[in-house]
Amino acid sequence: MTASDCDILIAGGGLVGLSLALALSGSGLRVTVVDRVPMAAGARAADERHLALSEVTCRVLDNLGVLPSLGSDAEPILAIHVSSSGEFGATRWSASGAGRKRFGVVVPARRLLLAMQQAVKARTDLHVLAPAGVTEAQVDADAVAATIQADGSEARHLRARLLVIADGVDSALRSAAGIGTERHDYQRSAICCALTPERDHQGTAFERFTRTGPVALLPQASGRCGAIMVVNNADLDRLMALDDASYLRQLQDAFGYRLGRLRRAGERVSYPLRRVLAERLIAPRRVLIGNAAQAVHPVGAQGFNLGLRDAATLAEHLLDAHRAGRDLGDSALLDHYAAARAGDRAATTGLSHALAQFTSLQMPPAGWLRSLALLAADRIEPLREHLLLGGMGYRGATPALARSST
Ligand SMILES: Cc1cc2nc3c(=O)[nH]c(=O)nc-3n(C[C@H](O)[C@H](O)[C@H](O)COP(=O)(O)OP(=O)(O)OC[C@H]3O[C@@H](n4cnc5c(N)ncnc54)[C@H](O)[C@@H]3O)c2cc1C
Repeated sequence: MTASDCDILIAGGGLVGLSLALALSGSGLRVTVVDRVPMAAGARAADERHLALSEVTCRVLDNLGVLPSLGSDAEPILAIHVSSSGEFGATRWSASGAGRKRFGVVVPARRLLLAMQQAVKARTDLHVLAPAGVTEAQVDADAVAATIQADGSEARHLRARLLVIADGVDSALRSAAGIGTERHDYQRSAICCALTPERDHQGTAFERFTRTGPVALLPQASGRCGAIMVVNNADLDRLMALDDASYLRQLQDAFGYRLGRLRRAGERVSYPLRRVLAERLIAPRRVLIGNAAQAVHPVGAQGFNLGLRDAATLAEHLLDAHRAGRDLGDSALLDHYAAARAGDRAATTGLSHALAQFTSLQMPPAGWLRSLALLAADRIEPLREHLLLGGMGYRGATPALARSST
């Protein structure tokens, strides 16, 4: 191997790729992260998502040193309120009632990305190439040779034991590895913005199912909320073109007056909603994580939480192999990783898809079913506990990085 070689090459420095880099830092492994966006510059495009992070995710981010650096930008979720517009039945869960300090936290996605970029930049053992893209990967017996292209400069080549593909939902490296996808276009988009309701949210995350799809208000510091409204694609342009006051009226109609009048809407950004599942997680000397492996509807707030569990589990496997002096691209190791992720992945992607379908059905019996489901979730203790633990990220084996936090 030459001086420029590394052990692990991570293509994609989004939230999941950077989490993996941080989890591997300090191990003695030579890790390189490549991303199209400059490091410690935040996101390139406007991003108004507010992410609900499960308790397992919080523990992992705590261990990676990211959560403490977020300060008051990480607002605890003290209660969850789920209801359905125009139907009876609602469910209300309080963390204290469930014997917990919080269910998780809410954080602006761009703030979390910046915190991770800064953490990665501060680790001297992590090598970052950005802005640059991995454009090609050739596999031979003991390495993967990647071509890395930065704007305006000559392509460079890097050999690694393993290429981690973390380049997001439209992953070109996934296709290049010959891995197909199963896709579903929901024909809906999510419009995200920050706002300030008249009444204090008291740490409550609200989710309300409407005819077109869910509306969520997630708690933020200083009484602010991150709002997400799922709309039919046919209505998207009209809603995005509204002035702030008219948009707030639409949101208010959908959400109701639980928090009084909704005010002071910030910039609006829309996101198309698709489910994209990779048919396999691995190829010779390559492994998919995060949205490159699976992108889900945001209704259950599971996408990053699931991707982080990919990263934490992969880190565990790689660190064990490193300590044992094994080849990090060994096919048995990759098979073992894929098997370890199968249960959580199937359960979480399946639940997100079922929720997305179920909560936007418009036939008359669907309203009754939704109401009954909400009542059941509210009243039946084992179901309640099961949903809560799943939502908090306790699905499948808990990654070691989440277990060791206090
Ligand atoms: C509206 C909305 C709300 C959401 N809410 C939640 C929530 O509440 N909770 C939750 O857990 N999840 C939520 N999610 C999901 C979450 O945002 C994603 O799952 C998560 O951001 C995926 O991160 P990633 O790092 O896998 O992918 P990305 O964030 O897409 O990162 C991919 C990175 O790869 C880089 N890249 C691309 N191609 C290359 C290349 N060839 N070489 C090098 N770099 C490359 C890109 O520049 C990018 O930085 C939500 C999503 C949406 C759309």
